[in-house]
Amino acid sequence: MTAKKILLVEDEAAIREMMRMALERAGYEISEAEDAIQAERQLSDGLPELVLLDWMLPGTSGIELARRLRKDEYTRELPIIMLTARSEEDDRIRGLESGADDYITKPFSPRELIARIKAVLRRASPEAEEGLLKSGDLVLDSHSHRATANGRVLEMGPTEFRLLQFFMSHPERVYTRSQLLDRVWSRGSFVEERTVDVHIRRLRKALEGEGHDALIQTVRGAGYRFSAQS
Ligand code: CA
Repeated sequence: MTAKKILLVEDEAAIREMMRMALERAGYEISEAEDAIQAERQLSDGLPELVLLDWMLPGTSGIELARRLRKDEYTRELPIIMLTARSEEDDRIRGLESGADDYITKPFSPRELIARIKAVLRRASPEAEEGLLKSGDLVLDSHSHRATANGRVLEMGPTEFRLLQFFMSHPERVYTRSQLLDRVWSRGSFVEERTVDVHIRRLRKALEGEGHDALIQTVRGAGYRFSAQS
């Protein structure tokens, strides 16, 4: 299964470093931002599975950023855990009202942090936690590394499988070729953007037998999208 991506928004480098180490050890892939501007820039390049958001940030506060993310259709359903040094009940309520899914008070142990992350991810997407992604009769099982449609196994290579897995976990969004390279291919692999087209073609071919090739849509001048709507 591909590592779950977490965006960590925290202005204190020492805390960021400590959290990044703990999270990477737990198998997550971490990207970092020091403030709201950096966070929004990163989010526009593609969404993580979850955001850890410090309340007290220079400039735009974490709470303000959480509100903004909830208003924007693109980030509306993004799970957010707020990090804060404040522990008063009032603050807790304000944090949750801003749209955060959970709230964790500093100082916290890595174990507590990871338990909260798992709980929020489980709530956000119970099937993904079991490794199952579904779209109609198309089912992708991340554990057995198998995709089926109408119960029949679809034959595809490992890159097509990862591509389908990425698309099914990020439906209805357009990704450019370079974003797909970043998210689906291993980091540091130097692949031309044209390679994406080759694998998209193979993936469509694999889906074609069961009549699902239309799920992978070409968006002219932009890239590709997985969509159950034609
Ligand atoms: Ca801070």
